[in-house]
Amino acid sequence: MILANKKHISSSISKIRKLRKQDVSVDELLKGLFKGNKAHLAKAITLVESSKAEHFEKANTLVEKCLGKSNSSVRIGITGVPGVGKSTFIEAFGKALTQIGKKVAVLAVDPTSTLSKGSILGDKTRMQNLSKDSNAFIRPSPSGDSLGGVARKTRESIILCEAAGYDIILVETVGVGQSETMVHSMADFFLLLKLSGAGDELQGIKRGIMEMADAIAINKADGDNLEKAKLAEVEFSRALHLYPPKANGWTPKVLRCSASEQTGILEIWHLIEEYVTLNKKNGHFEQNRKNQNKNWFLQTVDEQIKQYFHQKKSFEKVQNDMLVAVENNRVSPFYAAKKLLESISVELK
Ligand code: GDP
Repeated sequence: MILANKKHISSSISKIRKLRKQDVSVDELLKGLFKGNKAHLAKAITLVESSKAEHFEKANTLVEKCLGKSNSSVRIGITGVPGVGKSTFIEAFGKALTQIGKKVAVLAVDPTSTLSKGSILGDKTRMQNLSKDSNAFIRPSPSGDSLGGVARKTRESIILCEAAGYDIILVETVGVGQSETMVHSMADFFLLLKLSGAGDELQGIKRGIMEMADAIAINKADGDNLEKAKLAEVEFSRALHLYPPKANGWTPKVLRCSASEQTGILEIWHLIEEYVTLNKKNGHFEQNRKNQNKNWFLQTVDEQIKQYFHQKKSFEKVQNDMLVAVENNRVSPFYAAKKLLESISVELK
């Protein structure tokens, strides 16, 4: 059995390696992807992640053809500080889900892998068990780009995973910079993993994160830590009640779990199911996805307009002139901005 499994894994790895080197047509990729072929899915994501101009059109066609194939999926954002147990949790959670017949894809948004070459999520050695599961697909965080770029790639990868039949998409992130907000804006459900401490649970929580959470799971609720975890559960529940109710009618919940002992894991899934049922019934599930898409569109337009202006030759010069003028109190900052944009607009005509 173990030997057969090993053979299966090494043959899939060699298929992925072989395919990586080949130039496969979009149609072929789509055919494989719709059949749930992991090698084709990996190759498709590589295209989406590529910043080469010649891959752009191919990637767009791929994503376009995969849109709308995602109706029954659930996208779950997971965050928590390094060491809270994210990878242990995702491994246990992912396994529990594949055991009840789900297909699970794990994607990551890790701004640290973008800024430096190393990453907090340390992709390669993590989730070894889950990565061997034939019903799981794990993709390391794309790097070498801005956080916005990484987020775009992750969003498009979600679409591809869903088209390949993955019905649970886990998007993991660390609490660095804007990464949590980004993941929240691509997820249906947002899970915050926390540790219990000595009465200081609520300290050190980033502003805004409590409002984003649909559930908080106190991890490492095992051994000597169990009692502290119970206290943390009460404290967090109390804190959550201070926030106004969410527009979708959901009241965020606090749960306890132990990723390493695999307790409390399925309970989290049942809670997510409850959330999805409620939100599908009251229309918020679809509405939220539509709003997310519209926001991504508007945000992308904003970013590209900015880029477009910045690329103009005279931009920097006029901007510098205006900076001096503002510094010397010759013009107001608002007038300077108006002048700068006017001068670029003339160039655009
Ligand atoms: P990440 O940095 O958030 O991905 O955290 P890891 O999953 O790498 O876990 C950090 C450490 O906490 C590792 O040594 C894990 O074995 C340990 N750990 C994770 N989950 C649990 C848990 O539920 N209980 C206990 N006791 N230890 C855990």
